[in-house]
Amino acid sequence: MWSIIESTGLVPLLQNSLKRGQLPNAYLIVGPAHIGKMTLALNLAQALNCDAPDRPCGGCMSCVRIASGKHSDIRIIGLETGNSKETKVKEIGIEQIRDIQHAAALPPFEGKFKVFIIDGAELLSNEAANCLLKTLEEPVENVLYLLLTVKESSVLPTVISRCQRLELNPLPAASIEKSLIKHQHVEPDKAMLLARLSHGCPGWAINAVEDEAILDERSERLEKIRSVISHGFEERFAYAAQMTTQFTQNRRTVQEELGLWIDWWRDLLLVKAGSIDRITNIDFTEDLTEMAKSHGISQIRVFISRLQEAASQLQMNASPRLVLEVLMLNIPGRSI
Ligand SMILES: [Zn+2]
Repeated sequence: MWSIIESTGLVPLLQNSLKRGQLPNAYLIVGPAHIGKMTLALNLAQALNCDAPDRPCGGCMSCVRIASGKHSDIRIIGLETGNSKETKVKEIGIEQIRDIQHAAALPPFEGKFKVFIIDGAELLSNEAANCLLKTLEEPVENVLYLLLTVKESSVLPTVISRCQRLELNPLPAASIEKSLIKHQHVEPDKAMLLARLSHGCPGWAINAVEDEAILDERSERLEKIRSVISHGFEERFAYAAQMTTQFTQNRRTVQEELGLWIDWWRDLLLVKAGSIDRITNIDFTEDLTEMAKSHGISQIRVFISRLQEAASQLQMNASPRLVLEVLMLNIPGRSI
């Protein structure tokens, strides 16, 4: 078991703590989206409740019930568990924390350990974080809190200080590729593509195996990007306007799209530098090679930094229309 997290080096550390029975009261699991924070949390919950000698086995009743979200001693608290369905919930509220405090006071119901997973510790409201802090300060036997976060800087420092920190870093593409072939039975070519597109986050690759729409959507977006690059200002400004509207509805989609732009231009740079074997968009190798012929290395470099700048400006709440229009104006034309 321990799935793909095995290659992170955290497993021996956790197994050692489990063996000695010396677990902290809470772990803070830090890492980018889709890196495997929830997988690690569930694996830990399984290890604590597993009935087999080699824990977690993945096959016993406890392991299976935890994996399918049916185990009554494992609770996941996140935004979607908020009770207000009509309005978009933006924070994990104090009621949700009071709820788990109440549940934590009772002994485990069907397993050996109660595990509370807070999916998005950066989303805790101030009140909720302070309430949780009190809980973390008074450990209860056989209760473990797992706080997951993509943005550690937004978690209350006093909460962080009460947790043992586990950091998950992006994995090498080669190990994701191997794991996709071995565990998900993905064809080698597709495994290589997904591994590269995942940017080291195995969860992204696994989602893309399970939901083909993810790869289709990425291809459509890349086609659109290529069309914007090859067309004149009219199409570019129309694109900027469309992205601006999208930004007001869903910021993340626009950030993701900028990520595709950056990947595309980085690939061009790699082709120019003679490192075609390292590109991300391996299914567009021919198009990249063709386009690289008409662009100079320095203009590609400059545009990549403009893309990165635009992404960080959007994160810092600059006017999306302005940022995107300036970006469109700066797309380098054919120079060679
Ligand atoms: Zn088991």
